[in-house]
Amino acid sequence: MPGSRMPRHQPYPVVRLIVIALAAIAVAAVLAWSAGTVPSTATPASTAAPASPSVTVPASSTAMRLPAATSSPTVAPSPAQTVSSQAVITAQTALRFNGRRAYQFVLDQEALGIRPTGSDAGWKTGDYIISQMEGFGWEVSTQEFLYLGVRVRNVIGKGGAGPFILLGAHYDTRPAADQDPDPARRSEPILGANDGGSGVAVLLELARVLKHDTLKHEVWLAFFDAEDRGRLDGWPFSVGARETARRLTLRPQAMVLVDMVGDADQNIYYEGNSHPRLAAEIWAVAGELGYGDTIIPQLKHTITDDHIPFVEMGIPAVDIIDFDYPYWHTTRDTSDKVSADSLERVGRTLQTWLEEKE
Ligand SMILES: [Zn+2]
Repeated sequence: MPGSRMPRHQPYPVVRLIVIALAAIAVAAVLAWSAGTVPSTATPASTAAPASPSVTVPASSTAMRLPAATSSPTVAPSPAQTVSSQAVITAQTALRFNGRRAYQFVLDQEALGIRPTGSDAGWKTGDYIISQMEGFGWEVSTQEFLYLGVRVRNVIGKGGAGPFILLGAHYDTRPAADQDPDPARRSEPILGANDGGSGVAVLLELARVLKHDTLKHEVWLAFFDAEDRGRLDGWPFSVGARETARRLTLRPQAMVLVDMVGDADQNIYYEGNSHPRLAAEIWAVAGELGYGDTIIPQLKHTITDDHIPFVEMGIPAVDIIDFDYPYWHTTRDTSDKVSADSLERVGRTLQTWLEEKE
């Protein structure tokens, strides 16, 4: 059910904010007692203000001290307050993609079980994504349709303004482990911690850290259904992504797909169907961030994936995929094969690329 699965990554900052709030209340109470009055904008009390949902950053939240202190309508902002407001904005734009938070999104999906298109858990995964995206302040819409009698649902979050960039990942998991080393298990479904889970996790964490008022682009974070039923029961790959491409009324400046990026043994090469210049641009950012050992500017695999419908429309599209993953389409594609560091490298690369791109 939507909203029933509150993310388990929140308790840490919440507990921390409660501690800060309690300390602030205690200090405020002492001040009130000693001054004989209740301070309305005491500085310590203002540190409790980040309890609002928009400020859930662990590392930098303690540095953001003044949002509530400037709230009095009768007092013109002093220079100090102006500087502090800028500091708050800087702190918000300095939000960085956090691999551990992203990894929690993998665990949350895995906890829902196998998530093929048309399954209860698949639908709940869509609900979970909607709930998370709305919580991060994105405008969420869905694209629902029937394919071979099965209900398919893409989820799209929109934010920012400017030239249009579309980032995508599939959230369905493969109904059959047809690459499993054990032939007896090849009809079993896969958990898809990496194949499905990792791409969604990167987009969700990007949704948390990208701030709409500072984005220089209109960004869509598209969660595709029905990617991974290809060559099973007469289904092709990329049913959901093809529908998103078909319904576009605006042509994206760039389309970037994130798929199977969480392998703890990460090796992400250029992919052969991707737009070479756009890929070089993104890989160069990874290099600048020091990730050149794992996000490697060399061509290796050529893959049919959710970027193809966009490639076919002539849209510059890139598939960020680590195809050197021995557990691909096996029952062993589980969260113990995925690492927070791998998710973080891809996430920070995309965040930096998005924030710097003109
Ligand atoms: Zn797959």
